Amino acid sequence: MAFTIVTKNTVRERFPSAVRPDLWKDTEDKDWNNWIWQQQKRIKSMDVLEKVINVDADEHAAFAGSHEQFNMGITPYYASLMDKNDPNCPVRLQAVAKTGELKIVDTDMEDPLAEERDMPVPGITHRYPDRVLFYTTHNCPVYCRHCTRKRKVADPSSSAANKQLEEGLAYIEAHKEIRDVVISGGDPLSNSDERLEYILSRLRAIEHVQVFRIGTRNLVTLPQRITDNLARMLSKYHPVFIHTHFNHPKECTREAFDACAKLADAGCVINNQMVLLKGVNDDPKIVMELNHKLLMMRVRPYYIFQCDLSQGISHFRTPVETGLKIVQALRGWTSGMAVPHYVIDAPGGGGKIPILPNYVIKHEGKKWLLRNYKGLEFEYIEP
Ligand SMILES: *Cc1c(COP(=O)(O)O)cnc(C)c1O
Ligand code: SF4
Repeated sequence: MAFTIVTKNTVRERFPSAVRPDLWKDTEDKDWNNWIWQQQKRIKSMDVLEKVINVDADEHAAFAGSHEQFNMGITPYYASLMDKNDPNCPVRLQAVAKTGELKIVDTDMEDPLAEERDMPVPGITHRYPDRVLFYTTHNCPVYCRHCTRKRKVADPSSSAANKQLEEGLAYIEAHKEIRDVVISGGDPLSNSDERLEYILSRLRAIEHVQVFRIGTRNLVTLPQRITDNLARMLSKYHPVFIHTHFNHPKECTREAFDACAKLADAGCVINNQMVLLKGVNDDPKIVMELNHKLLMMRVRPYYIFQCDLSQGISHFRTPVETGLKIVQALRGWTSGMAVPHYVIDAPGGGGKIPILPNYVIKHEGKKWLLRNYKGLEFEYIEP
């Protein structure tokens, strides 16, 4: 019997391409698909933003009050995902400031995760026994309004100069307990391929470094950055983990799908770190849809972060109960692969603490009274 193989990539076809706003209708594809063009044409002013969306009064006021502290920067690609007329569009909320950003509430902290305190040398945060964060640039293609590192990101004086890079590498080399390096920023893919390859090659040459991860939002905000060259370069340094940051199903486009496919085909393992944001993804249905799309893109949901206490993001914070409800709506109801860990990065530098719905009703001696995802009770007796 003959089997006819259907080769059409039908999953890719379920992911629609971004629709270009009129402003870029006549842009040639070779420019639109070029990350340098996307980077150069980033929206930084109200004049240009107004050509793409109908900016409302709140957004005007927020821009005036915020752009000196924390720039606006939006790639044309990411801007094309914004709803022109809906100020509450989840993509727009992440990229265009609201007046909520101007409010500093008394629980806000400048460096809530105490990343500066646990910094043995500039550019390295060493908090956990066997792994470090390594800052390599202060730039990002899009400045996310909910960014936890606002104090650094977009500030040229905090840039990781080459001297700092060398000191960071020397620190990692001198500390044999470091087996996992989180390459971070800003966004490490804002480095040129050459600078990034230099960093990876240096890390790979260190005997005790087993794995590294590249923490990048380019898959979401500038998928054009994932070129064949970049993918080929990364594949020389395996195992390479990519940690990205999708927050909403709208961000799962054909472009993002293709960027993930390039990295996955090149052998990278991709994980997603979602931030729980009011109005963006504080709804179990949205997170379920996002995680299902991510799995089709070969991205494994890894963390849901409770929004932290950085300054000027209180309008994004949800009750912890909201995160618990989301996890509860996922566990058991869908693939375990689609259920990330919900964590609170403890203020003051305590690190990530997992928060779980309570599935243990009672524990007495050898008896565990448990409840399953549907609320039914079961007893487990230890040997
Ligand atoms: C998040 C983080 C890491 C990585 O944590 P994992 O739980 O291993 O993903 C490492 N160092 C610091 C300082 C962090 O904040
Ligand atoms: S990409 Fe990451 S570091 Fe850059 S602005 Fe967004 S959240 Fe901050």
